Amino acid sequence: HARTRNVTRFMRERLSKDMINILRNIGKVASELECGAYVVGGFVRDLFLYRANEDMDIVIEGDGIAFAKKYAAMLNARIHAHAKFGTAVIIFPHGFKIDVASARMEYYRFPADLPTVEMSSIKLDLFRRDFTINTLAIQLNPDKFGTLIDFFSAQKDIKEKAIRVLHNLSFVEDPTRIFRAIRFEQRFGFSIGKLTSRLIKNAVKMDFFKQLSGRRVFTELRLILQEENPTPAIKRLDDYDLLQVIHPSITPNQKLISLFNAVKKVLSWHDLLFLEESYMKWVVYFLAITRYCNEKISRDICEKLELAPRHSVIFCKERFEADKRLFWLKQNSPLTNSSIYRNLFSFRIELILYMMATTKQEKVKKSISQYVTQLRHVRTSLAGRDLKKMGIEPGPIYREILEAVLDAKLNGLLKTRNDELIFARNYVL
Ligand code: ATP
Repeated sequence: HARTRNVTRFMRERLSKDMINILRNIGKVASELECGAYVVGGFVRDLFLYRANEDMDIVIEGDGIAFAKKYAAMLNARIHAHAKFGTAVIIFPHGFKIDVASARMEYYRFPADLPTVEMSSIKLDLFRRDFTINTLAIQLNPDKFGTLIDFFSAQKDIKEKAIRVLHNLSFVEDPTRIFRAIRFEQRFGFSIGKLTSRLIKNAVKMDFFKQLSGRRVFTELRLILQEENPTPAIKRLDDYDLLQVIHPSITPNQKLISLFNAVKKVLSWHDLLFLEESYMKWVVYFLAITRYCNEKISRDICEKLELAPRHSVIFCKERFEADKRLFWLKQNSPLTNSSIYRNLFSFRIELILYMMATTKQEKVKKSISQYVTQLRHVRTSLAGRDLKKMGIEPGPIYREILEAVLDAKLNGLLKTRNDELIFARNYVL
C-alpha cells in the first residue's frame, strides 16, 4: 500500500506560482478527460531535496497523447507525440517543456519467468523506474491535488540518503542503471544501499554489460561527465571495476585522478571568464580518460561506444595533433604571441582546455591561457578590399599579407589601422 499525505502547502513554499498554476491546470484537464494525472520522478525527488528542477514529468492514467493535445490547444503550445510509446512533449511558446507519458492497466511480466504481477497503472509505471528515490508521485486532479503517493519507501530512502533499486532483478533488466546509481549517489551525496551494492557487484561479475549496446553505456557515461564534479564518480566506477566496461586498458590510477582534478580547475577558470561560451564539457573529461591510450585503442573505444564520427575524430585524430603541438610548445618556450596563436588557432576550445589541463609547465600553461583570454580574439582591421584599394593584384598574396599583418599585430607591433596599412604597403614593396 502507498503512504499518502497532502503536500500542497509544501509545494506552495517551494515552487513558483506559475509552476503551481501549470500543475493545477494539468489536473483540471486530466479530470475533464476522466484520467488520473501525476507529476512524478526527478521533479518530486528534487522538491524534497530542496533542489531546483524544471524538468516536469507527467504520467496520465489513460491516453497521455489525447491529454497533451487538449492541454496544448488550451495554451497555444506545440506538441511532439510518439504514438508508439504513448508519450508526448508539450512545448510552451517561451520554450518550457513538459514530458507526458501514458500509464495503462497492464500485467507486468518479470524477466526470467517470474510471476506476473497485477498493479494499478500509476504504481506499475513507478515500479518500472530505476531507484526508490525516483518513485514519488504527486496527484494533480483537483479533488486530490497535492496528494503525495509513496509506494516504495522513497521518503525513507531520501531521509536515509540511500540509492536503492526496487527489486533484485533491476540490473538484469537494465545494467545502465548501475551508472545512474553512481551518478545520483555522487550528485546528492547519497550512498548506494548494501543490497543494491551487492547486486551491482554481482552484475559486474556476471558481465551483464555484454548484452548492452555501447551507445547506451556511452550515454550514461556522458551524463556522469557532465555532472558538476565527475571525479568522485570516476573513483566509484573504479571501485566497481566499471571502467573496464569502457575498455580493459583503462585503469584509473592516481595519474588519472590528478588529471581529472586539473581538468576541473581549468574548466572552472574558463567558465568564470566566459560564461556565455558553450562547449562540450564531457569531451574534455573524456579526453582525460583516453589520455594514456594509443591511437588503436582510442579507435577501439570510439567504435565500441558507438560515438558519432564528429565526436570520434576528436579522440582519434585531433587529440594526437594536440599532444604533438603541446610537445612542440614545451620544447620551444618562451614563445612570441604569433607563434602561440599559429600553434593553437586550429583547435577547438575543448582541445585547448585539454592541453591546458595536461601540461605541467607553468610557462606553457600561461601561453595557452593568454591564447584563450586574448590572442584568439585578435583580428586585423584590414580586409581584402583594403588591399584592392591599395592597387594590389588579387591572388594568394592577399592571404599572405593579411597573415603577416595579424602576426605583427599579435606581437604588439601594430596599434592602429593606419599602422596596418603602412605595414601592408611595406610588405609588398
Ligand atoms: P536528471 O536530473 O539527471 O534529469 P532525472 O531523475 O530527471 O535526473 P532522467 O534521466 O531525466 O533523470 O529520467 C527521468 C526519470 O525516468 C527518472 O526519474 C527515472 O526514474 C526514470 N528513468 C530514467 N532512466 C531509467 C532507467 N534506465 N531505468 C528506469 N528508470 C529510468
